[in-house]
Amino acid sequence: MSVAVAFAGMKRVAGVVFKAGCPDCRASFELGARDLRLAIGATSKTTFYSFTCPQCGVAVRKPAGERVVELLIGGGVRTLRLHSTV
Ligand SMILES: [Zn+2]
Repeated sequence: MSVAVAFAGMKRVAGVVFKAGCPDCRASFELGARDLRLAIGATSKTTFYSFTCPQCGVAVRKPAGERVVELLIGGGVRTLRLHSTV
């Protein structure tokens, strides 16, 4: 069985891939929706996404603008709404 055949059925499951970079080790890589977390606060200052760098293992947290939030939610990233509990 060729590789192409082996992965043919996985295309839909793979879903959206996000490009990200690590500010610590400066590696750039691609992350799937399950590798990312999105936390939505009351303001844009408390809205951020986070992931763990696959290269050095550091926890990265970056501010998420409106467009990024839409992109992440559309891609199926797990979302935490911080302001709903206040
Ligand atoms: Zn890193």
